[in-house]
Parts: sequence; structure tokens; C-alpha cells
Amino acid sequence: MKKGIAASKGYAIGTVVLKENDELIITDEKVTDIQAEKERLQNALEQCKVQLTSIKEKALAEMGEEKAAVFDSHIMLLDDPEFTGAMEMEIESNNSNALKAVDSVAQTFLMIFESMEDEYMRERAADIKDVANRIKLNLAGKAMGLNIEATNTIVVAYDLTPSDTAQLDRSKVVAFLTDIGGRTSHSAIMARTLEIPAIVGLNDITSSVKDGDFIIVDGVEGNVILHPDEATVKEYEAKRDAYEKEKEELKKLIDVKVKTKSGKRIEVCGNIGKPEDVHKVIENGADGIGLFRTEFLYMDRDDMPTEEEQYEAYKYVLEKMEGKPVVIRTLDIGGDKKLTYLPMPEEMNPFLGYRAIRLCLDRKDIFKVQIRALLRASYYGNLKIMFPMISSLSEFEQAKSFVEECKAELLNEGQKVSDSIEIGIMVEIPAAAVMADELAKHVDFFSIGTNDLIQYTLAADRMSEKVSYLYNPMHPAVLRLIKMTIEGAHSAGKWCGMCGEMAGDETAIATLVEYGLDEFSMSASSILGAKKIIIDQE
Ligand code: PEP
Ligand code: MG
Repeated sequence: MKKGIAASKGYAIGTVVLKENDELIITDEKVTDIQAEKERLQNALEQCKVQLTSIKEKALAEMGEEKAAVFDSHIMLLDDPEFTGAMEMEIESNNSNALKAVDSVAQTFLMIFESMEDEYMRERAADIKDVANRIKLNLAGKAMGLNIEATNTIVVAYDLTPSDTAQLDRSKVVAFLTDIGGRTSHSAIMARTLEIPAIVGLNDITSSVKDGDFIIVDGVEGNVILHPDEATVKEYEAKRDAYEKEKEELKKLIDVKVKTKSGKRIEVCGNIGKPEDVHKVIENGADGIGLFRTEFLYMDRDDMPTEEEQYEAYKYVLEKMEGKPVVIRTLDIGGDKKLTYLPMPEEMNPFLGYRAIRLCLDRKDIFKVQIRALLRASYYGNLKIMFPMISSLSEFEQAKSFVEECKAELLNEGQKVSDSIEIGIMVEIPAAAVMADELAKHVDFFSIGTNDLIQYTLAADRMSEKVSYLYNPMHPAVLRLIKMTIEGAHSAGKWCGMCGEMAGDETAIATLVEYGLDEFSMSASSILGAKKIIIDQE
């Protein structure tokens, strides 16, 4: 058996098709006819464009706009003067052959991207590799793509590029496995969208199997079973069938407003980071948005988003949710989330430092832009504003009165603002949990942020692999704080939700229902499973 990273859930039983390594032999041979070599490169680029356009169309039909956009960025790379322009320069100035020119420019780009700290940017190196490889294969006259004839095929590759993944024929390919890759690589994301079981980061799967081998893929646990005996095959056939049946069954819950057996109504909501994420949340039958992490609007750009940009983003989500509750959290920057354009102090413990509401109360100029945008958007739906990292009543009061000030200013300007906006806090600092009954008298709601609450309660850094064994949501101290928070809210007649990862943890839901949690908010793909567990609770 081999263990890797479970990138896309599900089971598959089938035969291996090994994807050949497309490595080409690249020489330093110089060319004399520079013009002819540049034309050869141009032709290859044109061929790439035609191929990528057709891949993009297939992706658009099968996976939707967002996933197909990857190929737009590939097509754009082909026209990028810094990328393909640099290849021409390399031919011109060094008399390099086209293959060599493509290879050396790509290497330079890869070095830059792969050394970036940001995981997302590192993963984007895969896009550069993908495009460069396609140009090289076209230059070498080698066709791209996998020719798969048989059904129940399991594709095994060193790495699958996004374009390889998008081209997989779903009627034949039942899973894929790769030597390298992580959960956030594009191929892994696409596998989840296509709902193809996938395991990545298996290290040496390409040298452990050969074409035609019969294997089992357990995408739930991240295991590959090589040469299974008959009993194991039967066992996994049963698991696969049960899994597929359950997935179908769950769809029945899309429009169900869940209640426990004793009749308590519980809301199951979705967490989002970008306005577009709202679609998946709606598709999965969420009762609302329990957490919009607005800091993502501030990331991957060179300057602060303007009031107008933010207003459009919030309005979009509120309108799409058609009057259902939308909890929007104010900027939670700092800790592990930094902005390139906002200088921050060097701190020994950034998670205990200048972040979230602390930063916003200090930088009212930044805070004001967001609060004005939120208040203006409130007119278009059921907005609830939530402050992160509240540790004391005074912070909440300062933040709330700042919202009132901004509201008065907007009304003065003649702008429309809803007059029924609830204002609540995240309970993610133990102090807030301990003081929940007092805080509850002042706020409209709580949402428990277990991701931080656990790390602060157990003094176990949420980012550290070394202490991950201590990071336990079911630790009695954590459970006690959660219970206190829920009871504190209820004692003042307020509602209490949870938007940390624990809300979608199938092993924790029963306990949280028992404690009286009113709202669960989680990633879109966990919503239906959570609904199913909730309706089975007393
Ligand atoms: C949390 O801390 O549980 C939470 C939801 O916020 P974040 O993960 O963004 O810190
Ligand atoms: Mg948090």
C-alpha cells in the first residue's frame, strides 16, 4: 500500500495508464538563421494557442467559468512579452535554438515562482511549467495529451498539469495519482470540481506501478492498494458503491431546512473568501453565509481595494443570497495573512500581535473604507457585520461606535443604509469565551472561531506541524469554552454560530448540537454531510 495526500475524495478500482514523462533532450546547439528560428518559435506559439483554446472550451463546458479561466491565463502567458518575448530575445542575442531559449526562460521564471513564500504563488509555477512544456512539445513536433481507450482507467503521472487534468475523459478515467503536488495545486482543485478521486504527493508511484496494473484508489484516506486480492477488491467495491449512493442521497437535502429530532431549527451556512464562492454555497443548499473572510479582497494586489470595489463585492454576495443572512467579517489581516503594500511591524508572535480589529482600530483610515462599503451594501440584503479577534468589551464598543459614526455620515450624504444590521463578534480568544455572558448583553450574535480559539487555548500554533498533535478541537478545555460561549449568548437571548473548521468536522457536530449551537458555517462541500448528521441528533 502507498500513502499520499488525499486531494479529491472517492474510491476507484481500475487499471493503470502511466503518463509518459514528456522530458525532451535539449542541447546548446547554436543557430545561424535567427529569423527562421524565431518563426519556428512563433509557429509553436500559434499551435499552443489553438490547442489551449480548445482545452479551455472543454473545461468551460465541464467545469464552469472559474476553472476554465486557468487556460485564459495560459493563453495570456503565450502573449506575455516578459515570457515569450524573452524567448525571442534569447534566440536573437545568444543564437540559441528555440527549444533551448524556451527552456532557459522558463527555468528563470520557475526559480522566481518556486522560491516565493506564498504557497499559492508557488503552485502557480505549475502553470508556467505547463505552458513551457507545451511550447517545447510543439517545437519538437510531439502531440500532447493522453490517449485513453479503456474504461476504468487510473492515470498515474509524475505530475499532472492543469491542462492534462482538464482533458481527462470522465467516461474512462476514474482516478488519478501523482508523485508530486499538494492539496492546493490546480490539478487537485480541478479534480475536486470534476469529482474525480485523486491522490497526490505519492513520491514514487510512477516507479511502483506499470501500465495495465490493477489497483485500488482510496481517495478518502489517501491510500493506493497495489495488487489487491479478491477479498480486498470486494471490500472496496462495497465502499465505492456506498460512497456514491450516499453522495446521491445527500443531494435530497439541498432544499431542506434542517431540524433536530426534537424540532430545533439549525442553520447550516457556508464560508467564503471571494464573492464568486457564493455560487457553490448556494448550490449546496446553504441557509446563508456564516463567514465572508474579506481579507481576500485585499490580497493578491498592489493597493487597497477602494470603497467602490468593496461595495460592489458585498452587494454582489448580498443580492445573490436573496435576503438570507450574510455575515461579513471586517478585515482580519496580520498573523499569517500579510499585505505586500501595507508595512507591518516585525513581531516575535504575529498571531498575538498587531492584527484584525487591533489594526483596524488603530488605522481608522483603512477601517472606514470597509465600513462605508459594508453599510452602503447593506441596503441590498440581510447583512450582519462581525468583528474578528475581540478580546474585551471596550474593543467591541469602539468598533461599534465607529460603525454608527460612519452610518450617520452616510445618511447625511443621502445614502441608503439598512436599519436592521446585526453587529456581532468572533469568539476566538479565550478571554471572550470566558466573558461570553457579559459580552452577550452588548452584541447581537457570536460566531466561534475555533481555528484561533484552539491555538490560543492550547498554546499550540495552528501553523506548526510539530505541535499539531496538541491542536485538538475535542480537548475538554476547548469544549468547555465553546459550551460557555453558547450558554453565554443564550443567557442574553442572542444566537451563537461557529465558523471555524470544527463546524464542518463530522466527528464534532453531535457535541455542538448538544451544546445548543444555533448556526454552523463551513466550506460548501461539507454542507450536505453536516445537514445529514444534524437531522439525526436529538
Ligand atoms: C477562526 O479563527 O476560526 C476563523 C474562522 O478565522 P480564520 O481561520 O480566518 O482565522
Ligand atoms: Mg480567526
